[in-house]
Formats: sequence, C-alpha cells, structure tokens
Amino acid sequence: MSLPPGFIDELRSRLSLGQVVGRKVMWDSRKSNQGKGDLWAPCPFHQEKSASFHVDDRKGFYYCFGCHAKGDAFNFVQETENVGFMEAVEILAREAGIALVLDETYRDFHSADGPPHGLFADPGWADTLIHLYSFSKAYRLTGHRVGALLASPARLAQVEKFLDTVTICPPQLGQHAALWGMEHLQDWLAAERREVLARKRAMVTGLNRLKGWRCLGAGAYFAYVEHPYDIPSPELAKLLVEKAHVLVLPGTMFRAPGDPAGLRELRFAFANADAAGLDTLMGRLAALG
Ligand SMILES: [Zn+2]
Repeated sequence: MSLPPGFIDELRSRLSLGQVVGRKVMWDSRKSNQGKGDLWAPCPFHQEKSASFHVDDRKGFYYCFGCHAKGDAFNFVQETENVGFMEAVEILAREAGIALVLDETYRDFHSADGPPHGLFADPGWADTLIHLYSFSKAYRLTGHRVGALLASPARLAQVEKFLDTVTICPPQLGQHAALWGMEHLQDWLAAERREVLARKRAMVTGLNRLKGWRCLGAGAYFAYVEHPYDIPSPELAKLLVEKAHVLVLPGTMFRAPGDPAGLRELRFAFANADAAGLDTLMGRLAALG
C-alpha cells in the first residue's frame, strides 16, 4: 500500500485539528482563545469535568494534562473512531475534500491474511477512494502492465476521457491472460504469496543477524536497509558489486536530494532470490567485515 509522496503533509495542511476534535468535545469558551487556535475542552479520552485537554490548532497537536493522551489529527481519528491508520487517512481526506489515491500494486502479497484495510467496507468509499491495482505482479505479466483502477463512475468517466486521448485501442493480450489468471490461478497465487512472504522473512531475519545492518522496512519485493559503513551509499553500492558481487541501489535514489539519510541506506530487490540465494547474499555481506 502506498500513498503519493507528500500526501499526508498536504492533508495535514488542509485540515484544522480544532474542527476535527470539535465534533467530539465541547470547547471551554472561557479557557479557550479561538483566535489564537488555543483550544481547551474536557478530555474525550478520560472522565473529567474540568478542561485539561488542549488543542494547539496552529501546530495541529493535542495533549491532555490529565491522562497524557497526545497526537495529531490522524491519532485522534484512530483513537476516537477505533480505526487503523489508512481508515483515519480516508476519513480525513473525505473531510478535506481530496481524493485518496491508494496504490495497492502488491496487495496480493500482503502479510495479513484478511483484507489489508477496511476501506471498501464503507458504502461511501467511492466519494474519496481511488484504488490502483496491478495484475502484472500477481500473475507474472511483466511487461504487459495490466492493471485496474477502481473509482466512482463519475471519476471513471473522466479517466476514460484521458485514456482515449492517449490510447485508441489498448492491447488485449494481457487482459485475457489476467482474466484467465483470476478464474484459474487462485491456488497458485496463494502458493506464490506464501513463497514471497517466506523470502521476505528470510531477508529480514538474515539482515538483522548481520552485525550493524538494520532492515528499516520490507515489502513483497524490496527491502530498505541501513548499512553499517562510514561510506556514502552510492560508493558502497559500487564496492558491493566489485567486492561482494551484490547489486543494490543506494538510498540516495529514494530520498530527497541532499537528505543525509540516503547515504546510510540501500535498497535490495529480493523477489527473484530463493532461500539458497538469500543465504548466499547474507554470506557475502557478512564476509565484507
Ligand atoms: Zn485525558
């Protein structure tokens, strides 16, 4: 699952935490200073009569001096609506009137057994959600780029207009293959998912056993990793090819230009490596010393 870069910041900047919280509490008008975005109310997270729950509307943070509950608009919605992060994002995107474009290209390989989120269970999902999916990953249609876009009929009509300006007749070969895959390959896909998740586990545990290396995050195909060396990642990536015969991308390719974090990070693509291959990889990394 991934969101467009900067989406969370954009959403935050368009929301007033005072408005979000204001639907759940009664502001204490004597203690609050609306003009300054300095808002007080009895806390929604613990029982009290006085107003020890504070919202700093300009900074977008809340804090309770009674029970020490604290956070931002996303935390507040998660806590008060009892939902996960993605559901909170969807609720706030709807409130801000902006579409939530959710890229779920890899959803077939999600580690949770149920649906990765509950957004489609909301009958009103199509107002806000635009879901992207790729059959190419699930059914190995690499190169065919067969995907799906789920949105409201009104939005789909606009997408169709755009598509019509760039493609008169989309190639159907991959679409037939994807349809056949959906109709016949569910067991095969379930086994693929187990294999992909086993590789991911082998990758994460292998990396975390190496001295000084740290796996910062891993999905179905890629692991994002902190390396232990005093060498900038673009140089280290070259060294890894020469000394260890391991090809990875430096973190600087994934961070904003000038962000020092990228220098300490590498991205590994491991989807094509089986258990023996990953063992070899860990052996080569360990041998670097
Ligand atoms: Zn409280």
